[in-house]
Amino acid sequence: MSHEIRTPMNAILGMADLLSETPLNEEQSKYVQIFRSAGDNLLTLINDILDLSKVEAGQIELESANFSLVSLVEKTCDVLALRAHQKGLELLTMFAPDVPSHVIGDSSRLQQVLVNLIGNAIKFTEHGEVVVKVDLENSPKTHHGQCRLRFSIVDTGIGIPADKLGMIFDRFTQADSSTTRKYGGTGLGLAITKRMVELMQGSIVVLSEVGKGSTFTFDAEFGIGSVELEEIQKTEINLVGIRAMVIDDNATNLLILKETLNSWGLIPTVINNGGEALDKLKLAKEQGRPYQLVLLDGRMPEMDGYQVAQAIQEDPGLVGTTVMMLTSDMRIGDTERINKLGISAYLIKPIKRVELRHAIERAISKGQKASTLAITEDHTQSSTSLRILLVDDSMDNQMLIKAFLKDSSHAIDTAENGRIAYEKVLASDYDLVLMDMQMPVMDGYAATKAIREWEQQHHKQPIPIIALTAYALNEDANRSIEAGCSAHLTKPIKKSTLLETIKRYETLSHQPVEKIKVAVDKDLEELIPDFLEHRYEDLKMIGDAIQHGDYDIIQRLGHTIKGIGGGYGFPYLSEWGKQVEQAARDRNEEWIRVLAHQLTDYLTHLEIMYE
Ligand code: ADP
Repeated sequence: MSHEIRTPMNAILGMADLLSETPLNEEQSKYVQIFRSAGDNLLTLINDILDLSKVEAGQIELESANFSLVSLVEKTCDVLALRAHQKGLELLTMFAPDVPSHVIGDSSRLQQVLVNLIGNAIKFTEHGEVVVKVDLENSPKTHHGQCRLRFSIVDTGIGIPADKLGMIFDRFTQADSSTTRKYGGTGLGLAITKRMVELMQGSIVVLSEVGKGSTFTFDAEFGIGSVELEEIQKTEINLVGIRAMVIDDNATNLLILKETLNSWGLIPTVINNGGEALDKLKLAKEQGRPYQLVLLDGRMPEMDGYQVAQAIQEDPGLVGTTVMMLTSDMRIGDTERINKLGISAYLIKPIKRVELRHAIERAISKGQKASTLAITEDHTQSSTSLRILLVDDSMDNQMLIKAFLKDSSHAIDTAENGRIAYEKVLASDYDLVLMDMQMPVMDGYAATKAIREWEQQHHKQPIPIIALTAYALNEDANRSIEAGCSAHLTKPIKKSTLLETIKRYETLSHQPVEKIKVAVDKDLEELIPDFLEHRYEDLKMIGDAIQHGDYDIIQRLGHTIKGIGGGYGFPYLSEWGKQVEQAARDRNEEWIRVLAHQLTDYLTHLEIMYE
């Protein structure tokens, strides 16, 4: 069913998107808005029903992979924070100290459960807060290497009447019949959540009091994971000995930042007001011991962060200092101010350790030279025109994708089934294929396989093929990857996702002959030859790992390069690392080979200018 339902939804939602971008009068845009939101609601309902029927039919298999529990929960809250903040609610997370940072399990199903419960908590709360707590349960049931975690989602919302508590986990049930009118929703969320939790070997319960709030608690079993990846990253850029000044009027924040920076080896000085901080910065400079990094709170009484940044910029002695802004909200015009004041990064509170670390590494290694930044970034952004073959039997979908790409410089050719696509790929030179998978005559799987076979026989470099399917399940993504596709997008396809995916291939599409010029900070001159040499070693390692089918090594390598590429001034390498990481995760050997080939090409054409 899923294909039949999603394909027309794709056209409906996509066309509504496009329509809303055309000139409309106020009345018309109101209509389109209603049309879009009704479409979105319908899609949510369809997804819920499909999901539920899959769980009930026992068709969902849980994945088992290592992931960072902390960042999964934090990321999930990040996405939902906007909704909470719009209602004036605090959304907080609390991890018990003994909770393992990494676990083995199905991160996307866990996320789905959390999104459902946190989403409900925000929806049914008007004042106060929503807290997500994670604790370790020492159950006798858990065996060695396993752990049982308890998640509680506590809200201060409307609560649920006692006589309704028993039935809210049933399908299509809402506690109050006026709920749908006021809050929307399908009454399916908790039914799915309950079954997902059961799949994770756990159970879910609710405690609630009308007018006071509700607490949903579920437990689930995981393997204890490893933190290896993060540790590898930590050793990449050394921050030891860097003198940093933290300026914030909030004492707790100062304490947290001081300890965090200390733990990475930086030497922090903390100060609670801007004026005094400026005096200290100047004095240190005069004494020949300047601060390399300033972490600045945006909103402070008397002199705020922006004024401090401006004073730093206007002082000839301090102008080169790397300044990072920490803010709790971004108001209109803030981004422009930040750019104008030469601030090299901004982070939104609550600040996450990993993000802070990365931001500091990036800022420090770039040395905050605006000109270098502009040039290196340019290299990725210079948009290349690709020749794209779009294969889809539905005219609506063809029109939609063409319309999505109408403002780009790409040239688009079309084919309405796999057989025609195969013939066209053999006859002409495309940079990228967008391939619908369900088509008459010859479907996308068969066409992709045929193209890959032909490429191998003729020693051609494989062309990137992006599968467009109606299925959101992992197994289906795997099926297209197994057929030889390089990536997989699920319908309904959003304009932004499509453009982003194509952009990745733009960045990677190699321009032969020409030199690839990259501007790099002069301070890094001594490090670069080794850094590049290591990339050749990586290539060798990838070759070996492919032979042994060791995708973990490749995934880790991709992850590391993704993290450090930008820091050294090679955004291409970050992008490359990202692709390799994904390809290894997909076990997509062929695509890894293409990427390796592209890296060799890149390295041999590289011309570095130190500035
Ligand atoms: P819906 O799509 O209606 O939110 P759910 O299955 O997720 O469907 O929830 C079923 C019903 O349970 C909701 O309609 C609401 O009446 C009640 N409910 C769920 N979570 C909460 C909460 N945090 N506070 C109050 N009521 C809740």
